[in-house]
Amino acid sequence: DLWTAKGHILFDDVVFGYSDDRTILPDFTLDIPAGQTIALVGTTGAGKSTLAKLVSRFYDPTQGTVSLDGVDLRQMHPKDLRRAIVMVTQEAYLFSGTVADNIALGKPEATLDEIKAAARAVGAHEFIERLPDGYATDVNKRGGRVSAGQRQLISFARAFLADPAVLILDEATASLDIPSERLIQDALQTLLADRTAIIIAHRLSTVAIADRVLVMEHGRIIEDDAPDAL
Ligand code: ATP
Ligand code: MG
Repeated sequence: DLWTAKGHILFDDVVFGYSDDRTILPDFTLDIPAGQTIALVGTTGAGKSTLAKLVSRFYDPTQGTVSLDGVDLRQMHPKDLRRAIVMVTQEAYLFSGTVADNIALGKPEATLDEIKAAARAVGAHEFIERLPDGYATDVNKRGGRVSAGQRQLISFARAFLADPAVLILDEATASLDIPSERLIQDALQTLLADRTAIIIAHRLSTVAIADRVLVMEHGRIIEDDAPDAL
C-alpha cells in the first residue's frame, strides 16, 4: 500500500503559460535521474520558480507532461505526491505553534525523538535547545523569536523528517550572517543526500555542491553542465 518513489523526474515537451496570451515555457524537456542534485540559475523572470511550481503541481502543464518515475503527476494520488515531492520555499514559513510542531508539519505522527534526530541532522538542535522552552518554544507567525537563518534550519529539519524522494528548494536571497551561512551549507549537504533535488540557487557555494547546473533564460535551458565546467 505504501508506495515509495525513486525520484526520477521528467519534463516531456512541456508547454506552459499562466495565461493563453503569454507562454513562459515554450517547449521544455528535462530529464533528472533519481538522486541527482540540480542547481537552477538564471536571470529574474527566466522561469525557475515556474518549473518548481510544475513539479510540485501548483500548476499543470498546458501541453506535455511532468512525470515522477514514469507516472504523470496528474495520475498520482495527491497523498503519494505530497509524500514524494516536498518544496521548501524562500520564506521558510513557520506557523504559530511550537518548534517541534513546526518540524513535524509533514509528519504529524513523528515522536519527539524523531523530531530531535531531524534537527540534529541539519545542525538545528543546538540553537533550539537554547530557546526559552527548547522544542516547546512557541514561534509566532512571523517567526519573531528566530532569525532568518534559524528559520531556514527549522524548515530543513522539517524536510529532512518528511524525507521526500524529491526536494525542491527556492534558496533564500536574503544574506545571512556568516556562522549561519556556514551552518546552512552543511545542513544543505545533509538534506540533499539520497534524494533528487532541484535547487533554485542564489549562492555560489550551493552551485558548487550540485551534480549539474542548469542556466535558464526565457523559459529555456541555455547551459547544462557540471559545476566545475562553468
Ligand atoms: P526570479 O529569479 O525573479 O524568482 P524566476 O526565474 O523564478 O525569476 P518565474 O517566477 O518563474 O521566474 O517567472 C517567469 C515569468 O512568469 C515571468 O515573466 C513572470 O512575470 C511570470 N509569472 C510568474 N508567476 C506568474 C503568475 N502567477 N501569473 C502570471 N505570470 C506569472
Ligand atoms: Mg523565482
